[in-house]
Amino acid sequence: MKSISKHGLLLLLSFCLAGTASAAGGVVTSPTGIAPDRYVYYPGTEELNKDEIRLISCGTGLPAARRDQAATCWLVEVGNGDKFLFDVGTGSMVNVAALMIPYDFLDKVFLTHLHTDHWGDLSTLWAGGWTAGRTKPLQVWGPKGATDDMGTAYAVEHFLKSFNWDAKTRNFILSAEPGKISVQEFDYKAVNAVVYQENGVTIRSVPAIHAGDGPVSFILEYAGLKLVVGGDTFPNKWYIEHAKNADVAIHETFLTPPDLVKFYGQSPGQAVLVGTFIHTSPPAFGKVMSTIKPRHAIGYHFFNEKGTHDDILQGVRTTYDGPLTLATDNMVWNITKDAIVVRDIVSPDQAWSVNGPNKPPAPPARGTVPDPMTDFIKAGRWAPAEKAQAPMVNKFKKDNNLK
Ligand SMILES: [Zn+2]
Ligand SMILES: [Zn+2]
Repeated sequence: MKSISKHGLLLLLSFCLAGTASAAGGVVTSPTGIAPDRYVYYPGTEELNKDEIRLISCGTGLPAARRDQAATCWLVEVGNGDKFLFDVGTGSMVNVAALMIPYDFLDKVFLTHLHTDHWGDLSTLWAGGWTAGRTKPLQVWGPKGATDDMGTAYAVEHFLKSFNWDAKTRNFILSAEPGKISVQEFDYKAVNAVVYQENGVTIRSVPAIHAGDGPVSFILEYAGLKLVVGGDTFPNKWYIEHAKNADVAIHETFLTPPDLVKFYGQSPGQAVLVGTFIHTSPPAFGKVMSTIKPRHAIGYHFFNEKGTHDDILQGVRTTYDGPLTLATDNMVWNITKDAIVVRDIVSPDQAWSVNGPNKPPAPPARGTVPDPMTDFIKAGRWAPAEKAQAPMVNKFKKDNNLK
């Protein structure tokens, strides 16, 4: 064994001590090495443990568009490999896409209700995922309405009708299969009834009180962990009863009435109606959380900025002093029996889609799908442009053995 000088031993000792010190981000011990811990989440770089849930906020904002914050969307990834989108609100798909998860893994969508800030970006997931590698239909779970025309099946049927031109023109060159959407409707009045149960994951719904009949909240259970995804609601008895003992409880907490007047331009009458009747005010949110006592509470559904954050936090803290995140977009919660770790996500603005393991379905054979373009339109192609691109096209065809 090599002998170590006293000086060397001291150096070794101080190195070991430095290595076990707990600074944020760890201790960088080499100018040419790697940093041990950057206390942020880089998507796609961490395996998910079998008994773990990874929750990601892809939208936490409001119906009015804002570049900094999309409308409601939660991605839940569980240790068995299943992934679930809870709501896919307007603008949220840019954040989902930045996670660079193959679209085949993003085929299950659960809708709390049919306001655009909760399903407006279904169009982006539907068509964008279709062009970028999804090989199978989307599956949507959502509540029935008090009448047929207020339910999820009606909404999706007419969604597809309104995007008929989109689908028919894509069908000509792409397999139609990934452009289909299957809908599973369930009774919004059912209390804690199972709406999904597979591979060790159970998802139940409870009614919500928001704007009209139909909205629900979801409760997901996996590996002995319970995650409650609250949709828009005034605090209600069903959430209080069935969100008890949640590991993580998400519930909306809306802007305060003064901030709705100040920032959103609402009249005082409108502000108090929207902020304390149709939605949940910060003190009411706090009361919910101090009653159900989750291991960790998450509040969302407000534009989270300096001017609003402190007002909401103050309101929540009048009634709740437990663990809390006032969420914004692109945050991650790693949930296990041992710990709930909250971090920000660092992801690229210019993310490409990533292929999954499944081969894309074959495009339709020529002649089997009606050509959506007539000869009249085709005859308008400008010949000099054809000529200009011919060398590039010919080379590409030759390189790829295309006719
Ligand atoms: Zn709503
Ligand atoms: Zn909403």
